Amino acid sequence: MKLDVNMLRYLSKEDFRVLTAVEMGMRNHEIVPSELISRIAALKHGGTYKVMKNLLKHKLLHHDSSKYDGFRLTYLGYDFLAIKTLVNRGVFAAVGRQIGVGKESDIFEVATEDGTVLAMKLHRLGRVSFRAVKSKRDYLRHRNNFNWLYLSRLAALKEFAFMKVALGEHGFPVPNAVDCNRHCVIMSLVQGYPLVQVKQLQNPEPVFETIVGLIVRLAEHGLIHCDFNEFNLMIDDDEKITMIDFPQMVSVSHRNAQMYFDRDVECVFKFFRKRYNLSFHEYTVDADGEDVGTYESNRLCFSSISKDAIFLDKELAASGFSTKDQEVIEKFIEGAVEENNSDTDEETRDDECVSAINEQNIEGVGSLHLQDEDEQTIDCVVAGEDNDTEHDHQAGESSVPLT
Ligand code: ADP
Ligand code: MG
Repeated sequence: MKLDVNMLRYLSKEDFRVLTAVEMGMRNHEIVPSELISRIAALKHGGTYKVMKNLLKHKLLHHDSSKYDGFRLTYLGYDFLAIKTLVNRGVFAAVGRQIGVGKESDIFEVATEDGTVLAMKLHRLGRVSFRAVKSKRDYLRHRNNFNWLYLSRLAALKEFAFMKVALGEHGFPVPNAVDCNRHCVIMSLVQGYPLVQVKQLQNPEPVFETIVGLIVRLAEHGLIHCDFNEFNLMIDDDEKITMIDFPQMVSVSHRNAQMYFDRDVECVFKFFRKRYNLSFHEYTVDADGEDVGTYESNRLCFSSISKDAIFLDKELAASGFSTKDQEVIEKFIEGAVEENNSDTDEETRDDECVSAINEQNIEGVGSLHLQDEDEQTIDCVVAGEDNDTEHDHQAGESSVPLT
């Protein structure tokens, strides 16, 4: 998905207030009634309608009048809310080129004020699997319970918590987790390439050993990656490995843990055998009838690994990712849906949004430098308090004063 961050410079405080109002309304509504947006944003002289029109024009909102007149955020609208928050927090100051398109994410380079380049992962749960869930199940009946906004936020929170607490702080080779807001995770940029792009290795055996060793160490630590493959392992010029992509990780106490563990192991064996012609001491046959190695089978027997899972839940909860969050996201990943058990009625929840918007920090000007298509840095500023919506601006000019 194209992320035209240039547009950030045109957005005013009012634009962000209305975007935030729509975001808040989406807690209770898939499509937020225009009248409710206007009530939450509470701009003077009915100004909200004009702003909504502008946001629609820039594809930050989507209009829907099939049941009633209303709007929802687009991914772009949600991206802008997260980017603006992180820029204002001083986490980064520039957005650069796109470096990855995953199944359920877009990855961009971003740079801090002092020029350090980091990676920004924007989670897009729902882009693939959400539709798959929809077609497989009677999903529509429950549409208010699992919306992409909530799920993408949960996926980001989970990835951040695992990367920082469960893995990074225990010496696993993962990117350094820097910050997280909404569906956006900021982490260090890994040097090198995904293993899938590497045709030849100088030393395939030790690389293989390291990778298999990681699966075992993870299990000893109470975790299974669940998507452990050549797409989610990065390798640098010194053949050093870094693991990425954690939203689907489960605990070794998960009821399907054995199956997930074996699947991760099999992926690695198959890849190394096919790509690097490694042969293993023993073989067994998997469910598809293909040979897969059971290299040092004692070591890779899930039931014989001594696992330490108990402390993890506490550590993760302390980082803001609760056991309940884990349950919700696991259910989604497995394609299950559940009823909304909230006992607060819709009207009360809407009223809570109306009063809560003033607690949001929507004011403030952040400085954002952008990289254009030719990778030339363009300086710009995220519009804030005293800025007009309509600014004349020539692309490529170096700094835009906003008064
Ligand atoms: P998805 O969950 O959508 O598969 P990933 O986290 O696997 O997303 O990222 C997709 C791609 O983006 C990766 O294969 C990799 O090429 C790139 N990427 C992701 N994170 C980083 C990072 N921290 N540093 C460098 N490249 C990254
Ligand atoms: Mg991936």
